[in-house]
Amino acid sequence: MQVQVFSLERLREFVESQRCSWCGGRLKMKYYDHPNGVETEVGKVWVYGECQKCGYQWALWKLLRRKSRSVT
Ligand SMILES: [Zn+2]
Repeated sequence: MQVQVFSLERLREFVESQRCSWCGGRLKMKYYDHPNGVETEVGKVWVYGECQKCGYQWALWKLLRRKSRSVT
């Protein structure tokens, strides 16, 4: 199985281009070490976007799922 390594810079671009579904606020990408996170150049991390308005934390997979749903 091939492991996909994500670039933190790319992840930041993606996350911070998204808006909060609840209030429309801007998201700021944050991450911390997590064994079930995504593989990046600094190891496995849990990536999420924190809404700057309401404080809701959007997990990366939620943002990705939301994106793929809006495409189809
Ligand atoms: Zn919000």
